Amino acid sequence: MSNQLQSIFKTVPVNLSAVRIHLCSSTQFTSRVWFCGGRFEDRLEMEGNSVPLSDGCVEVVVCDPQLLDKKISAIRTAGPAKLQVIADFDATLTRYWVNGRRGTSSHGLLRQGNPEYDNKRRDLYYHYHPLEFSPTIPIEEKTKLMEEWWGKTHALLIEGGLTYDAIKQSVADSIIAFREGVAELFELLEEKDIPILIFSAGLADIIEEVLRQKLHRSFKNVKIVSNRMVFDENGHLIAFKGKTIHSLNKNEHALEMAAPLHDQLGNVDGPTYDSASVKTRTNVLLLGDHLGDLGMSDGLNYETRISVGFLNDNIENSLMNYRDAFDIVYLNDAPMSGVVKLVSQLWSSDSV
Ligand SMILES: [Mg+2]
Repeated sequence: MSNQLQSIFKTVPVNLSAVRIHLCSSTQFTSRVWFCGGRFEDRLEMEGNSVPLSDGCVEVVVCDPQLLDKKISAIRTAGPAKLQVIADFDATLTRYWVNGRRGTSSHGLLRQGNPEYDNKRRDLYYHYHPLEFSPTIPIEEKTKLMEEWWGKTHALLIEGGLTYDAIKQSVADSIIAFREGVAELFELLEEKDIPILIFSAGLADIIEEVLRQKLHRSFKNVKIVSNRMVFDENGHLIAFKGKTIHSLNKNEHALEMAAPLHDQLGNVDGPTYDSASVKTRTNVLLLGDHLGDLGMSDGLNYETRISVGFLNDNIENSLMNYRDAFDIVYLNDAPMSGVVKLVSQLWSSDSV
């Protein structure tokens, strides 16, 4: 392992006893376990064997350390002015488990203060959600179904009289929490003037409220690429802005949909980063928890991309696909601290 990778992975500033890094080849699952104290243990595990569960450790899988090393060097050489971060929201920036319970998604937390309409939206979920994951429905047909689902849901939110206050209350009542280290990551990126685009097929206004309530501060470099609501002067939802972003088209709308973070209702912080400046940032750090999240950088003609995958659950079945698809895979609902370390080492003077 290169000095560069060693400096990134050797310590993670969280209250965890160790970081284990598994380096694997394409044919066999060769694991190297590296403890924070600096001791290496080499060991071999057969492909398909279950990965040891985290016992107070952060488990990291890096399938191609040479490639990762090259990418880190390329990003270091280009400098922070060339980098942007593209992140999925649910189960990527937020935790999969919160106090032993499955964390709520930004989509699922909304209670519009009208049980009849909450139930109608829930019924739509039960109807369309299985269709979204059906292996037999052709993609064109599925895309139409998703448009239908999102359209009906948005119409119900308007018809049911959603208010901005209901969003605030829903977020306050929800089981949702950011991964440890997310605020530090945002701060670090803000210091370096690096934009963070958060992509979601959910609702921008809810994500912003989650950021406000759970991080207790705003970041000028954070942009939400998601469905945005329009409220009247009394705080009632009256419309949605622009094209609907659903689960099957969220990647197509990357840059043109990037809107600045609302400072408060009806008030928008000036666009610190416009689409043009984002397009000139040709290096990408991509964070996701789903293989489909890799498509979030499709709208960009990027030069170097480091992809980080959070594999939160069903690890035994999904690890092979994740480790082949992402440069770095964090297992078991890991904290964001490893990514903080990666970013902080990208331009530190002692990590060459
Ligand atoms: Mg997600």
